[in-house]
Formats: sequence, structure tokens, C-alpha cells
Amino acid sequence: MPDFDVIVIGAGNAAFAAAVSARKAGANKVLVLEKATEEERGGNTYFSGGLLRFAFDTVEQLHRLVPDAEKDFPGFNAGIEAYNKDAFRADLHRMTDGRTDPELSELLINESYNTVCWMKEVGRIPMEPALSLGGVRVGNVIKWPKGAIIRAVHEGVGLSEHWFETAEHEGVEIRYESAARSLIQDARGRVTGVTVQGPDKLYDVSAKAVVLASGGFEANQAWRAQYLGRPWDHAIVRGTRHNQGDGLRMAIEAGAMQIGQWSGCHATPINAEAAPYGVRNMTDKTNRLSYPYGVMVNLEGVRFIDEAPDFQFFTYAKYGGILLNQPGGFIYQFFDKKVFHLLEGRYSTSVPLEADTLEALVDQTKIWNKDRAKETLLGFNRAAGHGGPFNPGELDGLHTKGLAVPKTNWAQALDTPPFRAYPVTGGITFSFGGLKVDTKARVLNTGWRPIPGLYCCGEMVGNLFHGNYPGGSGLTSGATFGRIAGANAAGE
Ligand SMILES: Cc1cc2nc3c(=O)[nH]c(=O)nc-3n(C[C@H](O)[C@H](O)[C@H](O)COP(=O)(O)OP(=O)(O)OC[C@H]3O[C@@H](n4cnc5c(N)ncnc54)[C@H](O)[C@@H]3O)c2cc1C
Repeated sequence: MPDFDVIVIGAGNAAFAAAVSARKAGANKVLVLEKATEEERGGNTYFSGGLLRFAFDTVEQLHRLVPDAEKDFPGFNAGIEAYNKDAFRADLHRMTDGRTDPELSELLINESYNTVCWMKEVGRIPMEPALSLGGVRVGNVIKWPKGAIIRAVHEGVGLSEHWFETAEHEGVEIRYESAARSLIQDARGRVTGVTVQGPDKLYDVSAKAVVLASGGFEANQAWRAQYLGRPWDHAIVRGTRHNQGDGLRMAIEAGAMQIGQWSGCHATPINAEAAPYGVRNMTDKTNRLSYPYGVMVNLEGVRFIDEAPDFQFFTYAKYGGILLNQPGGFIYQFFDKKVFHLLEGRYSTSVPLEADTLEALVDQTKIWNKDRAKETLLGFNRAAGHGGPFNPGELDGLHTKGLAVPKTNWAQALDTPPFRAYPVTGGITFSFGGLKVDTKARVLNTGWRPIPGLYCCGEMVGNLFHGNYPGGSGLTSGATFGRIAGANAAGE
């Protein structure tokens, strides 16, 4: 008899969706292996904003998740726009240039609402409207971003804590400081267990099935250099330092197929002075995502991108990489007083440069070509202000005219002192390259056949995200494929 029915490698959102699903599907003995110590447990899930993107047709469907929303946020019901499956599909295809796996993305979209309800009702994850992440107050009305409205209470910290509680309640065994080192296969290639580096010994543990849920390779400097190229080897890691691609390596050694965008990753604009890896009491607060209301200038003193072709949730995951690739690896975001109230609360976790004129502000920065930066900002002001009027709740069409690099929305002149500047770089969130899985979350080998006994979910699933990603999709995807992987693993 194997030691366990199902072993899950990792202790993030995808892992616990798999572990709890396996228990609910009849697996008696389920083991979760967590490489981190108990203090550092939870992977990127802990650092996340806890935001969940899913498709729904009516606001009433949201009441199942957030029954008190109208009471807590008067006008909630009226401020919500439906986000049906077609809208989610359109966003995912637009963000990924149509490269997302057609079968897997359909599964994600179709299951997204059911999955989030399952997280709440079976996973016992309390939910709330995500005001501070995406809601914008316009007068007395809150404009909620389409499809990304709900998050776990206490964000990723709450999500992670509740998953651990639920798993323990369901009788899942959790071993800390227990890194999976390699997969054990029998003579026919079936995965029958895992070799584990425990706190004080290396040992084997057997199971009927193994679920890989150990995240991507974003914290592995050498793999970043190898797959993403320069300057990614020096990128700041937004989340856990433990996602080193171990699960990917083990699976590849066991014959698994690599698929998806191995040269790509999710990376966001963050404070350029952030620590090299995620800091647990800072979680995702290093993000600097209010650039649509300001102007971004690189160290050579030029604007390099349209700050506002779309809402931040549809540009942020791509813009991190563009910022990191600017000369010197960071840029400055400039704002004037008119929009200070629109800056996300997370901006308060660093002290900006501030001055009463744009020229004096530029002089305080580390921009190499300060004269050019001043001319860029003044030139921007001359070109701004066409169309509109300014409305942060929608794509307002307030644009620049005559600039080589246009700004398409919210293009107000920076004319109201004081002015502020924030140094911002791109921080890596997770790698996009992963393993080929089928709709049962089985891992396929390079001959396109399932490796018996091996499943995969979360960041490790390849071919869902390419180049960009609609905010809030990672956790929904992790739980969707985790739930499927756990149920199928339990049936082995
Ligand atoms: C700052 C930040 C904010 C984010 N905000 C959001 C958001 O609001 N919404 C959203 O959808 N997504 C968000 N994301 C992305 C999201 O966090 C991830 O997509 C998701 O958490 C991935 O879940 P996972 O279970 O696949 O991996 P993780 O949560 O990273 O878990 C991986 C686990 O595997 C463990 N592990 C690694 N190697 C081994 C090994 N050899 N043996 C055993 N265990 C191992 C790790 O310690 C960890 O427990 C954010 C990410 C970050 C970093």
C-alpha cells in the first residue's frame, strides 16, 4: 500500500484547491509538501492581492459571494456591470494575442464562477469587494473594474491562512521544510511517489498520484537569465523566494513536455527601491499601478510608452517588463496634485520626491538627461488635453496630439503643484512557461501522452498566459486546475 493516496507538492492556492478537492473526492490520505518553513509558508498566494477574475451574468450572482456588498458599499448593485464568458474570453484572447490554449482557457472561463463559489463554500475562504484594488470613486459612485471585483478577505494573507485552516480541518497532513527533490517512477513510467528533502533527512514517500503545485521559476536567477534573458537575472522578485522551478525541473526529468511562453513572465511596475524578494509584511504593496493618471519618463529623459491605452488591469502585467528594459532598469512616474487622490493607497508605502515646479522635481531625480526630461514633460503638457472630459471611471478619450508616443486616455497636463515623482522598476511576479496539461490536469509527456499518476496546477500550467494577462486570473486559474487535479488524482 502506498503511504498516501495523493501527494501535493507546494502550499499555495493551487495546491490547497487540489488537496481539499482530493479529500472531497474520496482520497483518505493527502499530504502537502511545503519547502518553506511554517513562518514563510504559502508561496506567492500569500503575497497576492487575493483578487479573483471570473465570468458572471448578473449582479445577483455576486451576492452568493458577497451578500453584504450593497450594505457595505451603497450603490454596489447599480455600479456593477456584468462580465459574461464572452467578455472574459475576449479579454484573455486580447491580452495573450490569441495564443492562450483554446481548451484550457475555455475550461478556465467556463469554470471560473463555479470555482470561486467553491473556494468560498468548500474552501471556506471569505470574500469581499476589492475596493482598494480596482474600484474608482467618481463623485458618489464607485466604478468597479469589469470582471475583477471580488477578492479574499485580507487579500493573499487571508486567502493563504484560510486554505491552511481548511486543509487542516479536512485532515490533510502538511509537512514544512519538506522540499520535493524528484519524482519516483515505476518501470512503466507511472509516478509512484516523491523523494523529499526534509529538515534533517532525505527520504522517499509513496502515493497513488502526485499533484505538482510548486509555482514557476521566477525566483531562480539562473533560469531567468536562461529563459527570459537579460536584464531579468537582476529583476526584483515580488513574491516568495522559494519558487525556483523545482517542480518544473522534476517533471521535465520525468518526461513532461514544456509548453507556453518560456521567454515570458508576469511583471508589474513596482517601487524601484523594493527589497530583492517579497517582504511578508509588505505583500503586494510595492506595486505602482496608477501610471494611467500620470506620465512615465525614463533615465534618458523620454517617454517610452502610452501610459493609458487601457485600464491598468490590462496593461500592468506587461508594463513591468517594459519598465525593467528601459536604460538603467528603472523610470520615474510623475503626477500633479490634481490626481494625488486617485493614486492607489499602496503609493503611501514610499516617500516620493516632491517640488513646486516640474523643473525642480526633475532636478531631484537620478534621470541622466535632465534637460531632455524637462522638455519631455513640458512638451507633454502642450500636447495634452484633447477630447475628454477627464473621467477616471471610464476610458475617457482625453488624449495627446502630435506626440511620437501618444497618451490615449486621462491625458491631463501636469499643471497643478505640488508635483511628485516615484522611481519605478519592473518586478517579476511569475513565469509564463509551464507544463503541457490536458483538461483533466494530467501532465503530458513529450509524446503527448499523460504521464500516469502525475497532475499539475497553478503557475506551473503552461500555455494559458502569453505576453500579458488580465489581472486576477492567476488565482482563479490555480483554483480551477487545482480542483480538477485533486479530484482526478483521488480517482487513481
Ligand atoms: C505580489 C503579488 C500579487 C499578486 N496578486 C494577485 C492577485 O491579486 N490576483 C491573482 O489572481 N494573482 C495574483 N498574483 C499571482 C498569484 O499569486 C499566483 O498566480 C498564484 O498565487 C500562484 O499560485 P500557485 O499555487 O501556483 O503557486 P504559489 O502560491 O507560489 O505556491 C507555490 C508553493 O510551492 C512551494 N514549493 C516550491 N518548490 C517546492 C518544492 N521543491 N517542494 C515543496 N514545495 C515547493 C512554495 O514554497 C509554495 O508554497 C500575485 C502575485 C504576487 C507575487
